[in-house]
Amino acid sequence: MATTNEDNLKKIISHAKEYGYVFQSSEIYDGLSAVYDYGQLGSELKKNIKDYWWKAMVQMHENIVGIDAAIFMHPETWKASGHVDAFNDPLIDNKDSKKRYRADVLIEEYIGKIESKNEKEVEKAKARFGDAFNREQFLATNPNVLRNQAKIDEINARFKTCMNSDDLAGVKKLIEDLEIACPISGSKNWTDVKQFNLMFSTEIGSVSESASKIYLRPETAQGIFVNFLNVQKTGRMKIPFGIAQIGKAFRNEIVARQFIFRMREFEQMEMQFFVRPGDEMKWYEYWKNARVKWHKSLGFNENFYRFHDHIKLAHYANAACDIEFNFPMGFKELEGIHSRTDFDLKQHEKHSGKKLQYFDTEQNESYVPYVVETSVGLDRTFLAILSASYQEQVLEDGSERTVLSIPAFLAPIKVAVFPLIKKDGLPEKAQEIIKLLKYDYSCQYDEKDSVGKRYRRQDAIGTPFCITIDHQTLEDNTVTIRDRDTMKQDRIKIDEIESLLKSKFDIKKWL
Ligand code: ATP
Repeated sequence: MATTNEDNLKKIISHAKEYGYVFQSSEIYDGLSAVYDYGQLGSELKKNIKDYWWKAMVQMHENIVGIDAAIFMHPETWKASGHVDAFNDPLIDNKDSKKRYRADVLIEEYIGKIESKNEKEVEKAKARFGDAFNREQFLATNPNVLRNQAKIDEINARFKTCMNSDDLAGVKKLIEDLEIACPISGSKNWTDVKQFNLMFSTEIGSVSESASKIYLRPETAQGIFVNFLNVQKTGRMKIPFGIAQIGKAFRNEIVARQFIFRMREFEQMEMQFFVRPGDEMKWYEYWKNARVKWHKSLGFNENFYRFHDHIKLAHYANAACDIEFNFPMGFKELEGIHSRTDFDLKQHEKHSGKKLQYFDTEQNESYVPYVVETSVGLDRTFLAILSASYQEQVLEDGSERTVLSIPAFLAPIKVAVFPLIKKDGLPEKAQEIIKLLKYDYSCQYDEKDSVGKRYRRQDAIGTPFCITIDHQTLEDNTVTIRDRDTMKQDRIKIDEIESLLKSKFDIKKWL
């Protein structure tokens, strides 16, 4: 039986749990919905992804600096940004299953089904025409595909009109006209569509009368905007320049399924790039390309990535697109690139009464800069890497292995060191090797079971190299080093290990 997307996601969730990558939060109390904890290997992988992003965005750009702003911000921040009034999702309940859905997601999924019909047409035609097949030409001329595309365009146009005019009854009518049924109950018995604000709130201050309501930030970006002048002045930054930040964000998501794809507490890696008004489209294109290049640098199949232009622009944007990734549950947003105009800075000027302008010495004038934002979810990047890396392989000798082919420099454990057996001084020699390497690499020592079993354990957690110490090591100071992906073993001198590993983990090969 063919495996379904759901099966694939389940496999990844259970592998992540079994090997200490991701646990459900407060599991002993049956968990907390859409909140997860990263285990001993997950936290390492997460840290390595953050480092890679920070290197690419901050360290390698002279004109980008990083900050670490607080999660709590003055509540006026969120009035200014529009989140208090407009950070809503349209929700709809099915009266029979009592399940809650995002109305926009129901419609998107409907469209997704039509899109996959088109993909099936493409696959059929490809098989029929072979090498002579031209995808673009086929998509532009095949009557079935054109009919489907016209339907997609019509749905999108109707949805956009409804959302732009706050016509929630129109959204419900669209769901009814498309005959969308609840996946659980199968019924089309829907409530009205309502707007639901996604921000979590709490109170600051110890005395209840004087305590005031504050929010847990729903995005890290505002911490950058309110610090725009602090950083520009103290860092003597000249436009165009960027401010980057990695940090937690919180959203009370309506539908929180699909593992770490949609969480209520998650982490974002964001960069706001401040540019001259009028230059924003040039930089928008620049960052679109730069960011997709960063994702592709990880070395997974290029077809895992695609752009998706937004139809309904957020209140602050004049252009926006997503970089989508082919997750186990299909293509979904991994990163957003938004041209946010001067909306945020102007709003903060208005609400704070402070000027947030930049004096451009070349143009001899002051202005509020425009902003291009790149915003990628750390947890979604983690899930993308985990799911693209996960492989169940049948080897030449008929045996099987599960391997995580995580890009070597991101792997939680870089090197495992094994003594062939637990005696004759081999464990001591193995510990010596670990002592040599642990300054630069996370290492794991393992002496239990056969070497073959130890290899399998390291494959399953994605360790790129295993070093084995045997009796010959004691004679001539050589070891075997085994490559996770090729499974090839080479005999090398101990004093060659460091330079070999240095070349294998050199991020210049990726970036
Ligand atoms: P979606 O449409 O999936 O809800 P979004 O468009 O609201 O996402 P943005 O506001 O653009 O997301 O946030 C930027 C990035 O933050 C997203 O591309 C995603 O990677 C990440 N992100 C957003 N919401 C969540 C969440 N609930 N859980 C995990 N990551 C998230």
